[in-house]
Amino acid sequence: MVHVTRIVIIGGGPGGYEAALVAAQLGAEVTVVDRDGLGGSAVLTDCVPSKTLIATAEVMTTFDSSYEELGITVAQDEAADAAKVIGVDLGKVNRRVKRLAIAQSHDITQSVTRAGVTVLRGRGRLGGGGQAVDGSREVLVDAPDGTVQSLRADAVLIATGAHPRELPDAQPDGERILTWTQVYDLEELPRELIVVGSGVTGAEFAGAYQALGSKVTLVSSRDRVLPGEDPDAAEVLEDVFRRRGMNVMGRSRAESVKRIGDRVEVALADGKVIEGSHCLMAVGSIPNTAEMGLEEAGVKLNDWGQIQVDRVSRTSAPGVYAAGDCTGVFMLASVAAMQGRIAMYHALGDAVQPLNLKTVASNVFTDPEIATVGYTAADVECGKMDAVVVKLPLRGNPRAKMQGIRDGFVKLFCRPGTGIVVGGVVVAPRASELIHPIALAVDANLTVEQVASAFTVYPSVSGSTAEAARQLHIRKRVEGES
Ligand SMILES: Cc1cc2nc3c(=O)[nH]c(=O)nc-3n(C[C@H](O)[C@H](O)[C@H](O)COP(=O)(O)OP(=O)(O)OC[C@H]3O[C@@H](n4cnc5c(N)ncnc54)[C@H](O)[C@@H]3O)c2cc1C
Repeated sequence: MVHVTRIVIIGGGPGGYEAALVAAQLGAEVTVVDRDGLGGSAVLTDCVPSKTLIATAEVMTTFDSSYEELGITVAQDEAADAAKVIGVDLGKVNRRVKRLAIAQSHDITQSVTRAGVTVLRGRGRLGGGGQAVDGSREVLVDAPDGTVQSLRADAVLIATGAHPRELPDAQPDGERILTWTQVYDLEELPRELIVVGSGVTGAEFAGAYQALGSKVTLVSSRDRVLPGEDPDAAEVLEDVFRRRGMNVMGRSRAESVKRIGDRVEVALADGKVIEGSHCLMAVGSIPNTAEMGLEEAGVKLNDWGQIQVDRVSRTSAPGVYAAGDCTGVFMLASVAAMQGRIAMYHALGDAVQPLNLKTVASNVFTDPEIATVGYTAADVECGKMDAVVVKLPLRGNPRAKMQGIRDGFVKLFCRPGTGIVVGGVVVAPRASELIHPIALAVDANLTVEQVASAFTVYPSVSGSTAEAARQLHIRKRVEGES
């Protein structure tokens, strides 16, 4: 009798559903257990909704920042500014956001079931008792109707994601004090929005609501916004934010947030109190790993409750894999999906390439966007990577001039001897699209000469990538001779 490998996946976000598709293609019998709907937080509350909201914000910014320069006239009261003229119906925007998210979750459910995967609604956890003699494990499913189902699996993948971190003295009420999952129920634009946290999520929402017409205060406990990103890129963004009228408060730690009637008060560690109509908390996330029987099954967690995994997504417990935000490896949908696929290739004996974080392309969806791949300025500064760097401001790019783009740059890093491209940063509108050739170069170990020799369209913003590669070719020669 042919033994079909039984795979049970707990969590149906990108880490889970992409793994399910791969496992089904490889001939396994696959069950996905999910609590809230396939697509996970990525589709229902985080990535997809925020980028849909930002799509509206982007149109507002593009219009607002360049219509005069590009010769567009607005036939209305001349005293009114563009934001007031074009305005935003937030209720309508949010209904579109939710509609698209649910439609995408449906699409994913359809393609997963079409591939032969069984989808169970409920909360999954590992059963007690570790591995059975045949090497299988038990997964218990708490269904919404209160029943408990027991499944047996030859391999289990935990892909349960994460949820917003809450501060004890800043409890969200879903109306005035909000997490990023609650903003899509707003019918009206917050008049004065205080965003606490200036990481990627905080910066994206602060930029978006400012563009939609809110008066935004961004509270950052660090010296600058986006402390984890390229410092030059963060500087450009902070400068743009301030120029557009955002109140960016650096080195300001929020201690508590209180709702007083229709107002909110944010108390800072230095004793200052700032007031607004709404507060959005973006202070990180907590992995969904509690009460899942993980430690009892021998799955090691770190001090933050994240599951420890190796580069092929194995946990410390045989037969148990983990992928995505519950591992805290690199909290991106694309990385979650890759970890999930790798786990299945490994579990099912297919060829596996271990996860390589140095080829991950990521993007901050602000205006301008900040896209990054490979080694960073911090890696060069601390001596982790020896690299030559060139940064070209977009001010000199012909297409950028035509489009009225002033802020941004292309930065490339290459190895001094070989000229192999090891990293890059693009700060520009649609940087998320412009980073791809650099990501390809990093992934394929291309040299700056190879990047420089490929044609780019004239005029194009990507012309600056080729120009940076040409300049690196000269720079590495000069530095090699000196
Ligand atoms: C505001 C915001 C914007 C983002 N934007 C981007 C972006 O633009 N690009 C990008 O790449 N990444 C983005 N991310 C990150 C991205 O959303 C996550 O990295 C991604 O969701 C991780 O996928 P996952 O499969 O690990 O978990 P999730 O997407 O969180 O899915 C986990 C699923 O598991 C379910 N679950 C949890 N516990 C259980 C249980 N015990 N039993 C059954 N089911 C369970 C949950 O209900 C959920 O459906 C963003 C994050 C945030 C917060």
